[in-house]
Amino acid sequence: MKNKVAVVPGDGIGVEVTAEAVKVLEALAPSLRTSIELVHYDWGAERWLKDRTTLPEGAFEDLRDHHQAILFGALGDPRVPEQIHARDILLGLRFRLDLYINLRPVKLLDDRLTPLRGKTTRDIDMLVLRENTEGLYVGVGGNFKKGTPDEIAINEDVNTRKGVERILRAAFEMARGRRKKVCMSDKANALTYAHGLWQRAFKEIAVDYKDVEASHLYVDVAAMEMVRAPERFDVLVTSNMFGDILTDLGAAIVGGLGLAASGNIHPGRCSLFEPVHGSAPDIAGKGLANPLGAISSTAMMLRHLGEESAATRIEAAVERVVKESRVTRDLGGKLSTQECGKSVLDALA
Ligand code: ATP
Repeated sequence: MKNKVAVVPGDGIGVEVTAEAVKVLEALAPSLRTSIELVHYDWGAERWLKDRTTLPEGAFEDLRDHHQAILFGALGDPRVPEQIHARDILLGLRFRLDLYINLRPVKLLDDRLTPLRGKTTRDIDMLVLRENTEGLYVGVGGNFKKGTPDEIAINEDVNTRKGVERILRAAFEMARGRRKKVCMSDKANALTYAHGLWQRAFKEIAVDYKDVEASHLYVDVAAMEMVRAPERFDVLVTSNMFGDILTDLGAAIVGGLGLAASGNIHPGRCSLFEPVHGSAPDIAGKGLANPLGAISSTAMMLRHLGEESAATRIEAAVERVVKESRVTRDLGGKLSTQECGKSVLDALA
């Protein structure tokens, strides 16, 4: 048995941070239970500019059938109109691989990194599950009388019972491995049909998980509570758009985008792991990018592949370099991308 991992660095700082993540992966390879084969792909803006390829023919099937995971950097380049390559590759993979769990840990690694006064590492440790295949981001809708004063613009919020149920169940399952608390966040008071479904499903599914404490907050209150009392949260589950917004807030309360990691997961299937940040053209090529989000995403990938102890080792190493300030400037350190990556390798050793 071998795990085949597709490495897609993409654009901008995606390339720089993925290089550091790959070094960590290679350093750990000898200690993994299952051997790992890394296959590098050049999909991104440069490739699109060269031959107009986004996701090559047959690539999706190859990923789905022959890879266990994808380690992704970031996509986005001002030279590509409307970022069509990003839409085809990243959104395409999320939907076509049916990666319904967008998993984003929000964990404070050092007290100094939170802008929240008085909060410590003991207070901020939550796991956010954002529904990743439905909601307002499915692209159902249209314009009528576009460009005129009478224009109508509609995006439909798509919620299926199956889609809602599977993300809620995933949240309860994950809570069982943590502090056994799930908070579901929606806006059922305004979106009575769409989020009424979330409410009903949540109540019904909670019955199957009596050992887990189930609670609910409207999304506006959840945003407020994440700032006021983040210690309330263990597992937070929510819809696609609300998850998008709350997880950026989550990143901000633990040190910013450079640290934030994510997984786009379908349990048991090829899943995609990427730092939360984008390609950051403003700092690309300067050695300023923080690689820790990408490295932590690699830990999440290893966990998905059943390599729990390697994942824990990476997380401990990241925590250590953060505590010792062996980090890039966005976290108040002085190191370059490569030096920060090296500090993780040293901590691992
Ligand atoms: P996207 O739409 O793809 O999310 P974006 O331009 O909105 O892209 P990012 O590319 O993530 O967002 O960048 C936002 C800003 O955050 C950048 O200008 C950059 O200064 C900072 N930033 C993002 N990622 C990092 C990182 N890894 N290290 C340091 N700074 C970062």
